[in-house]
Amino acid sequence: MKLGHENWKVFERSDRPGGLAASVVDPAGFTWDHGGHVVFSHYGEFDKLLEEVMGDDVYAHERSSYIRFRDRWVPYPFQNNLRYLPPEQAYECLLGLIEAPGGDTNMDFAQWMEATFGGGITHHFMRPYNFKVWATPPERMSSQWIGERVSVIDYRRALRSFVFQEDDVAWGPNNLFVFPAAGGTGEIYRRVAMRLGERVEYERSVVRVDTETKTLHFADGSDESYDHLLSTMPLDVLVRLLVHCPDHVRAAAEDLEHNGVYMVGIGYETPLKDDKSWMYFPEDSAPFYRATNFAKYSAANVPDADTATYSSYMTETSYSRYKQEDVDDLGDRVEEGLRATGVVEGRPEVVSMHVVDIPYAYPVPTLGRDDALQTIQTWLMDHDIYSRGRFGAWRYEIGNMDHSVKMGVDAARSIVNKTPEEIWTT
Ligand SMILES: Cc1cc2nc3c(=O)[nH]c(=O)nc-3n(C[C@H](O)[C@H](O)[C@H](O)COP(=O)(O)OP(=O)(O)OC[C@H]3O[C@@H](n4cnc5c(N)ncnc54)[C@H](O)[C@@H]3O)c2cc1C
Repeated sequence: MKLGHENWKVFERSDRPGGLAASVVDPAGFTWDHGGHVVFSHYGEFDKLLEEVMGDDVYAHERSSYIRFRDRWVPYPFQNNLRYLPPEQAYECLLGLIEAPGGDTNMDFAQWMEATFGGGITHHFMRPYNFKVWATPPERMSSQWIGERVSVIDYRRALRSFVFQEDDVAWGPNNLFVFPAAGGTGEIYRRVAMRLGERVEYERSVVRVDTETKTLHFADGSDESYDHLLSTMPLDVLVRLLVHCPDHVRAAAEDLEHNGVYMVGIGYETPLKDDKSWMYFPEDSAPFYRATNFAKYSAANVPDADTATYSSYMTETSYSRYKQEDVDDLGDRVEEGLRATGVVEGRPEVVSMHVVDIPYAYPVPTLGRDDALQTIQTWLMDHDIYSRGRFGAWRYEIGNMDHSVKMGVDAARSIVNKTPEEIWTT
C-alpha cells in the first residue's frame, strides 16, 4: 500500500490475524502466546512498524534467563556460566571446552556440538536440550543455521568467568526485548490488521493453487485470480495444494521436516515472582524445554492485571515422529514439572490450564533442507509465487517475527518495483 499499489488482498484461513504470533485469552482471563515470543529486531522496517502500531504501548525488558540443572539455576548461556555447576560437572565441561578442536558448519549438528563444546557441555546441556526443542536427532540436522542462535564461547572466556567468579549473561540479540503492554504478542498484529480493514479476508482457506490459470480456490467454493502470490502457509502444504506440479518438486517437499509444540499455560493463584523472565529445561524433570514467567512481561497477562493474586507460566513441549508426547495428561505433567523444578513453590491453586497445539512450530534445518528448498523455490519463483515467512521460507535462521516482516516488505518491493530482496535468497 505504501508503495502506491492498490490491487491486493490478504486471505487468511483463521478467523483472526497473527498466525503463530497471535495471542489468546482463555476462559479464566489469562492471556497466552503460541509459545514464548519476545520482540527484538534486526531490521529498520520492523522497528518502524512496531513504532507505528504500538507507540509507547510496550514495556522494555532486560532478559533474566536461566537453565535448570539438577537442583540449581545456571544463568543463560549455560556454556558461559559454568561456575554455577557442581565442581565435578564444571571440571568436565571446562576440560572438554579447552580440548575441543572447534566445529565447522560442514559438520552435522551432533558433530558440531561435540567439536565446538567438547564432551561435557554436549552431554550435560547441548544434546539433551536441543533434542527437547527440535524433537529431531542432531545427526539429521545441519549446523549451518547456528549463526547468532547459539553462543559459541572461547574457552579463555569460560575460564575467566569461572576463575574470577564473574557472571557472563549479556550474550545474544535478545538480551533486551520489548513486549506489548496488553494483549500479548498478538496485539501487534491485531493493530496491523485493523489498519488494513477489509483488505484482510478471514476464514478464507486456500485449498488449491492453479499456477496455469493463476487462480486460488477456496474451501467455500469461491476463487480469486492473481498475478503474483505471496504465500506464508507452510511450504510443504503449499506444494501439496498445487494443481500442476512436477514430481521432483513434490518429492523435494517431502524432504522438509518440522516439529510441533504444545503450549501449556498454567495460571496460578499465587503472586508473581518477579525474578526470571524465562527458563530452559534440558533434563527429564519437566516435559517442557522452556517456561516463560508470562505475568512478568506484562501484568495484563493475568486476570484484572492483578499480579498480587495471580501468576502465569507459559510452557513449550515439542513433539515429532522421533519424540512422541501424550497430550492427554500433559497439563498435569507440566504442572508437576513446574513444581518439581522449583519454578513454582509450594502447591498454589491452579486456576487455569490452557493447552494449544501448534502442529508447525519449528522448521527443522535438516541435512537435505537446502537442496530441497532450492528445487521448490526455484520452481515457485518461475511461477510468480513468493513463499516467505517462518514456514513459507522454511529457514529457522530467518524465522522470527522481524525476519518474517522484513521478508514480506522485501517481497512487496520485489513484486511492485522489481527491487531485489535483501534477506531471502534461493
Ligand atoms: C514456539 C515459537 C516461539 C517463537 N518465538 C519467537 C520469538 O521469541 N521472537 C520472534 O520474533 N519470533 C518468534 N517465533 C516466530 C514467529 O511466530 C514467526 O516468525 C511469525 O509468526 C511468522 O509469521 P508468518 O507470517 O511467516 O507465518 P505464520 O505466523 O505461520 O502465519 C501464516 C498464516 O497463514 C495462514 N494460513 C495457513 N494455511 C492457509 C491456507 N490454506 N489458506 C489461507 N491462510 C492460510 C495461517 O492461518 C496463518 O495465519 C516463534 C514461533 C514459535 C512457534
